[in-house]
Amino acid sequence: MPWRFRTKREMPEGVWIKCKSCNATLFQKDFEANLAVCSQCGWHGPIGARRRIALLTDDGSFDERWSELHPKDWLGFNDKERYPDKLKKSVARTGSLEAAVAGTAKIDGHPITLCVLDFAFMGGSMGSVVGEKVTRTIEAATDAGVPAIVVSQSGGARMHEGAVSLMQMAKTSAAIERHGRKGLLFISILTDPTTGGVTASFAALGDVIIAEPGALIGFAGPRVIQETIRATLPEGFQRSEFLLDHGFIDRIVERKDMKSELARIIGIASPSRKEA
Ligand SMILES: [Zn+2]
Repeated sequence: MPWRFRTKREMPEGVWIKCKSCNATLFQKDFEANLAVCSQCGWHGPIGARRRIALLTDDGSFDERWSELHPKDWLGFNDKERYPDKLKKSVARTGSLEAAVAGTAKIDGHPITLCVLDFAFMGGSMGSVVGEKVTRTIEAATDAGVPAIVVSQSGGARMHEGAVSLMQMAKTSAAIERHGRKGLLFISILTDPTTGGVTASFAALGDVIIAEPGALIGFAGPRVIQETIRATLPEGFQRSEFLLDHGFIDRIVERKDMKSELARIIGIASPSRKEA
């Protein structure tokens, strides 16, 4: 009897995924259970903002704030698709009105404020609302005298909001400066990818900057740089490990260890603040 190959229809959908780094075929269930990290090579895949928050904070401690903020089409922007239509699709995909989810929470009993960017929403790009949420996250921490944490996963400033997007770079940076003047801690966590105006503003301003392994972190992408300077870029350029070697980030922490590492750092910086 001749071999009978399975047709696509017979292959249950969503059972297997391919690792984008080592190309291994992984059971989707195992991959998800392993926090979306490849069991073969340690590649850290993308995870949504809400799952990230659940992984980083004490159970039931996250209190979402400013979820009602939604973006405005300042420019009447229209490329192949109108900006408001693009937004609607991202809202349906992520269940959030914007690419950032923010609020207050506790990490190992320490009160903090937290803002997490989500690449699934228009590439995690920073328009007026993402900038505002990052700023309010920092300002709420400044007012409460607690550490602020921002997890970045972003293609940079959102072109659909033009200069209004670029202004968020200054606004978020100013809030971090005021927070720092009060002697308060700001931790920036960089995940794959963190680029453009996000890298060039709040993401690079952490008192402690932590990256997940293998994350692409930079301003312009490697292809653009290569074409501009007409030189071959070194191996591993713009990846977490390369940036750690060159002093751009402070440490690389695996996803499974991130919460305990945050608790440790916060415990050192503000040990008296721990609440039951
Ligand atoms: Zn892999």
